[in-house]
Amino acid sequence: MTWRFDTRVVHFRPKGLERETPKAPPIYQTSAFVFSNLEELEAYFTGERPYLYTRYRNPNADDFARGVTALEGGEDGAAAASGMAAILVATLAAVKPGERILCPEEVYGGTYLLFTRELARLGIGVDFAPAQDVDAFARAFTSATRLVFLETISNPLLRVPPLPELAALARKRGAVVVVDNTFATPYLARPLEWGAHLVVHSATKFLAGHGDVTAGVVVGEGRFVKRAREIIAAYGCHLSPFEAWLAARGLKTLSVRMERHCQNAARVARWLSEHPAVAHVFYPGLSHDEDRVHTLLGGRGGALVTFRLREGANVRNFFRGLTWIKLVPTLAGVETTVAHPASTSHRAIPPAKRRALGVTEGVVRVSVGLEDPADICEELARGLAEAEGNGERTMPSD
Ligand SMILES: *Cc1c(COP(=O)(O)O)cnc(C)c1O
Repeated sequence: MTWRFDTRVVHFRPKGLERETPKAPPIYQTSAFVFSNLEELEAYFTGERPYLYTRYRNPNADDFARGVTALEGGEDGAAAASGMAAILVATLAAVKPGERILCPEEVYGGTYLLFTRELARLGIGVDFAPAQDVDAFARAFTSATRLVFLETISNPLLRVPPLPELAALARKRGAVVVVDNTFATPYLARPLEWGAHLVVHSATKFLAGHGDVTAGVVVGEGRFVKRAREIIAAYGCHLSPFEAWLAARGLKTLSVRMERHCQNAARVARWLSEHPAVAHVFYPGLSHDEDRVHTLLGGRGGALVTFRLREGANVRNFFRGLTWIKLVPTLAGVETTVAHPASTSHRAIPPAKRRALGVTEGVVRVSVGLEDPADICEELARGLAEAEGNGERTMPSD
């Protein structure tokens, strides 16, 4: 058979490649899958073959979800296009119009907007309560509360709520428990063991771990994950094959990265707590809640350290004083980065409310990377010196 040019330009893949076994997983960068005959197609619909169309399911997305499912100890898992997509589908898998979500006051900004603005339009209500206080949280339940949404470590003040107690309370009230485990990762905490029905992640952060992927995942009880998978397909918020491949690649080094992240962060937190320009350091296990953090996070505090500059220090000059640590509104990369919650994640919150939550102008969040901690401290010292007005360069005051 001699094909003409326009056919040869399309069909050049040799036959038999599928016999070769690559050491690394191939990227199934395809929108759909091929069937040799109608019987094979029928096998998809009877559940004997898993793949038909990438929006429904893709081997790379499944590969990544399987990895996280094994680490979290879930029954099943599904990958989604982002952390927000994972939160959306986990929520819709459990809640109907007319029902309500209960969540902590300091919930992640994107989740706050999703619940208050977007889910409100679908007739799903939301109530907020202080997660540190089980009694106050219990009082915020209504007869319509169907889902309790929690976070292992809060942003940006890194508080660890009494999760097993909150999950038990929610279950007693007949609510589904979803925990955003992004900040802790399954290396530190596995909320399904405390009674959560589902765990969600922004895999954009530590699971993928290198700052080059946007991805999400939902893991937990099979019946909810099955529903979440249907919603992912219906809304078209599946994870792309290449993003899934990168996320699965990053996941393999989670243990070694988290171990070093935690060691470095603990050292940075201790160093900051002795610096005269710093009024307060927020780090799980450093001061408050010592026992709870030890049990819940296995004695580790995670990779994030937040601090508040002392009264009179200039936060703008802190950021100006840094040379290699970059101001980046995300977290969890192998490189140390800093963020200013008051002007990014908490910008949409009115200033008075923001202050009530403790997110003042002088609050800085550090995502501690894998560099030598002595270098990280030296660099932070440059910023702090500048913030105190005794850096080498003089800056106009704000
Ligand atoms: C980043 C983040 C999200 C949102 O994840 P995306 O991947 O950006 O959609 C949700 N929850 C927490 C705790 C996060 O840090």
